[in-house]
Amino acid sequence: MRSRAVHGVLAAVALAVVASASPLGAQAPPFETRKVTDNVYIFRFGGHQSMFVVTPDGVIATDPIGYLRPHAVTTYIDEIRKVSPAPIRYVVYSHHHYDHIAGGKPFKDLGATFVAHRMAKMRLEALKHPDVVIPDVVVDAQHVIELGGTRLELHHVGRNHSDNSLVMLLPKEKLLFTVDFIPIQTVQFRDMPDGYLPDWFDSLDRVLAMDWDRMIPGHPYAGGRLGTKDDVRALKQYMTDLSDAVRQAANQGKCFDAAMKEITLPQYATWGNYGLFLPGNIQRFCEYWGRGY
Ligand SMILES: [Zn+2]
Repeated sequence: MRSRAVHGVLAAVALAVVASASPLGAQAPPFETRKVTDNVYIFRFGGHQSMFVVTPDGVIATDPIGYLRPHAVTTYIDEIRKVSPAPIRYVVYSHHHYDHIAGGKPFKDLGATFVAHRMAKMRLEALKHPDVVIPDVVVDAQHVIELGGTRLELHHVGRNHSDNSLVMLLPKEKLLFTVDFIPIQTVQFRDMPDGYLPDWFDSLDRVLAMDWDRMIPGHPYAGGRLGTKDDVRALKQYMTDLSDAVRQAANQGKCFDAAMKEITLPQYATWGNYGLFLPGNIQRFCEYWGRGY
């Protein structure tokens, strides 16, 4: 009886977390493809998003988003096929985290060339996950894919949410695809695992210095809308305010536990995952200001 009651409570908590964590609401379909411009689309499956670019000479896909769900990848390919019969020439990884890039084999079987940052390939070769396609082509600072009249630039803007994020810029369309390091009106994930401070701030400045109008994120945030430079500035301000508050707490000997309980940033209380992940975000800055790592 007791364990059943506990299980019931845990199930209720899990449901509450899912409901509060979903920016699209309970009625969102399991997957969706949205046209952004004549040649650029967003494929969303569950809580992950990928961008694909269609040209007369072929398709450039990005993250397969198929971790532990192979049907997400076959659905992705079916959705591409609904808008173009052209060969899928490339799959570009945003960074090496499994939830974005696992499951790419069906793309490989169609002959796609896999592209990622050099450090992403190095990490994936060490990890040897059975459901991850190892990149064929590696990028250092930048790389350009020109296909069928479309130019896609891949930029490494330094270390942030990982050491191998590639920002994907479509200069003609003024569109940017960024994954995980620039959440929109949403606090950072948990304790910012695999993240680099203070490099992350420089990385945001480098994104702000690029020429673009709209940003496609790797997760639907804030109702699923695209981001703007104001969103990047707001995120940088959030991280600055968080950093200042934690630095002060660290100097008063409050890191880790007291800081994680006491610090609030009410001006961000309406942001996604505020209640869920603010303590983790504080923990990460406590590591930085209280310990130096
Ligand atoms: Zn990630």
